[in-house]
Amino acid sequence: MAAPGTPSPSTPEAAGAVSGGEGREPKKLPELIRLKRDGGHLSEADIRDFVQAVMDGSAQDTQVGAMLMAIRLQGMDPEETSVLTQALADSGQQLEWPKAWHQQLVDKHSTGGVGDKVSLVLAPALAACGCKVPMISGRGLGHTGGTLDKLESIPGFTVTQSPEQILRLLEEVGCCIVGQSEKLVPADGILYAARDVTATVDSVPLITASILSKKVVEGLSTLVVDVKFGGAAVFPDQEQARELANTLVRAGVGLGLRVAAALTAMDSPLGRSVGHTLEVEEALLCLDGAGPPDLRDLVIRLGGAILWLSGLAETQDQGVARVAAALDDGSALRRFQLMLSAQGVEPGLARALCSGSPAQRRQLLPHAREQEELLAPADGTVENVLALPLARVLHELGAGRSRAGQPIRPGVGAELLVDVGQWLYRGTPWLRVHLDGPALSDQQRRALQGALVLSDRAPFKAPSPFAELILPPTVVHP
Ligand code: URA
Repeated sequence: MAAPGTPSPSTPEAAGAVSGGEGREPKKLPELIRLKRDGGHLSEADIRDFVQAVMDGSAQDTQVGAMLMAIRLQGMDPEETSVLTQALADSGQQLEWPKAWHQQLVDKHSTGGVGDKVSLVLAPALAACGCKVPMISGRGLGHTGGTLDKLESIPGFTVTQSPEQILRLLEEVGCCIVGQSEKLVPADGILYAARDVTATVDSVPLITASILSKKVVEGLSTLVVDVKFGGAAVFPDQEQARELANTLVRAGVGLGLRVAAALTAMDSPLGRSVGHTLEVEEALLCLDGAGPPDLRDLVIRLGGAILWLSGLAETQDQGVARVAAALDDGSALRRFQLMLSAQGVEPGLARALCSGSPAQRRQLLPHAREQEELLAPADGTVENVLALPLARVLHELGAGRSRAGQPIRPGVGAELLVDVGQWLYRGTPWLRVHLDGPALSDQQRRALQGALVLSDRAPFKAPSPFAELILPPTVVHP
């Protein structure tokens, strides 16, 4: 069921796949690439022809890469961005819901971070608050981790679900976390993988179209996008991140989606764990009503904004309190358990994971063979733990991919043994690395030690990563 004002739902049949118009000779791809390369405007037919060529395989990989780079360098105006979003959405099926669900259909999406396991917690927490959450999520992009990869580290978890299965999941559980597939935004799947290997991830129109195409297909009422800024974000600079946030919010209006964007800091990892199974364990801790304060803070603030914007809470504060209660009273954890079983995890394993102690959980998930601890090189206050070098070393150790489709090592990761703002004595262990292969190289150890930033100022309370919320124009502040 589409939100008011959303362009009419399109199936590949209804939309004639993504073709740009009947009885017209499409421009050849080199001509389209040249037009964008030279700063020209792509018409709706041009963009649909390009997406059609991506879909039917007539576009060579080099041509896809060249067009992505032309868009990355020349940008796209709002009209082009909106047409690209709709063309990607039209490359697959539109999800359809009972009319009665309209107001409850909500989602959250992140532009990508390190240690960001918010979706694993927030989807079931929102379901426990009465929402329907058909989350179409992504895999790791560049150095950032992917929600789908994290969930797939749980034996049996299946991210590929048909539209009919997704409907059943929303009826029975209230939420699901799935991947794009041959039926769901397939063109985004192809472009997403190509962007990862052509240095074209950091493009405002490409990110906007990639995220919003999935949300158009979901037929949402409300979306909050977590736009990261800082050293380990796609856009380190807050101003650039704000531009992306504003573009997402504005493009949402044009597509009939109520989109808000939260700007959140991504300098140090979110929480204390980075790596697939380690992050699942930490998400479970948060679902227990415990876990690191920065993770819980972000989950309840994003969730509170979603409940308020969708009209399911009267104020943001009420929304925050409701999400916090769902974490504390076990209702979010119960939804997570239901979601695991409904998406393929053996029910006994889902139960054991959701009821076990942290030590028992660790035995149930794949873990790396070795652990190595790093010691603080000096006394000082932990000013920061730089997420980017940490993520890069973990990527090298097998937590990320260098080629599309490459298998990853789910147990590889790192646990921070310290919090930002705390005092640390020289020789105290500050990082535990989980690795499968040989010991860390000297270069890797040096890169990791460089991630620990110590200062001589007094210990302090780490600030919340949540910096600001950019609202769509029609929402009145309470
Ligand atoms: N998430 C997406 O789905 N696409 C992007 O381009 C970035 C984050």
